[in-house]
Amino acid sequence: METLGLIGGMSWHSTATYYRIINEVVSAARGGHASARISLQSLDFAEIRQCQLDGDWDRAGELLAEAGQHCVRSGATTVAICTNLMHKVAPQVEAALDVPLLHIGDAVAAEARRHGWQTLGILGTSWVMEESFYADRLALHGVAAVAPDAADRAVVDRIVFDELTQGVVTDASRTAYADVIGRLAEQGADAVVLACTEIGLLVGPDDSPLPLIDSAEVHARELGRAALGQLRPTSAR
Ligand code: GLU
Repeated sequence: METLGLIGGMSWHSTATYYRIINEVVSAARGGHASARISLQSLDFAEIRQCQLDGDWDRAGELLAEAGQHCVRSGATTVAICTNLMHKVAPQVEAALDVPLLHIGDAVAAEARRHGWQTLGILGTSWVMEESFYADRLALHGVAAVAPDAADRAVVDRIVFDELTQGVVTDASRTAYADVIGRLAEQGADAVVLACTEIGLLVGPDDSPLPLIDSAEVHARELGRAALGQLRPTSAR
C-alpha cells in the first residue's frame, strides 16, 4: 500500500468526501479491514479564503507547499490538493515536492475521455470559471471547456462560498444550479464538470439536465488507485 498525502480542509466538507471515497476504493479492492494509508494536512480554510480575497496567491501557495512537504515527510509517495481552485497554485506546490502531485484536472479529463465528452461546462468558483489555469489543464488532454455567462458565474460562486463551503445545502440553490446547467447545454456542453469539490454535496445526476463529472469523486477514485499502487501519476509540468 502506498501512502497518500492529502492537502485538505478547503473545505473540510469536501475533504470528508475524499476520505470516504479513497477508503471505499481500497476496501473494495482489498476487502476485510483494509483501509488507505493517508497523511492528511487539513488547513484552516479561513486563512486560505483570506489569501484568495487579498489576491495573495504566493502566500496561499506557500501554505499548501508546506502542507505537501509535511505529507511527504510522513511517507506520502503521491500528494493531492483536495480542491479545484487551489490548483491555481499547483505549480508552486509541485515545485516544492519530490513526489508527484495527482492533478484534479487530469482525473476530470480522463473521465470525460472515457465517456467521449469533448466539451465540458464548468461550474466552480469564479477563478476556475474565468481564468485559464483549469481549462488549460483539460485542454492538455483534448477536452474543451465552456463557462456560464457573468450573471450565472456570480450565482454559482456565491453559492459555493456563502453556502456549500460552510455546509449549507438548500433546494433553492439546487434549482439555481440546474438552471445554469440547462443554459450550459444550450452553449454546446456535452456534460458538466462540478469543478468545485463541494458541489457534489448539492447536485447529483437526478438534478441535472446534462451528465455530470464530480471532480471530488473522480479525483478521490484515482487517489484510491494510487494508494493501491495501480496508478503512477507523472508530472505534466
Ligand atoms: N472546494 C472548492 C473547489 O474545489 C472551493 C474552495 C476553495 O478551495 O477555495 O474549488
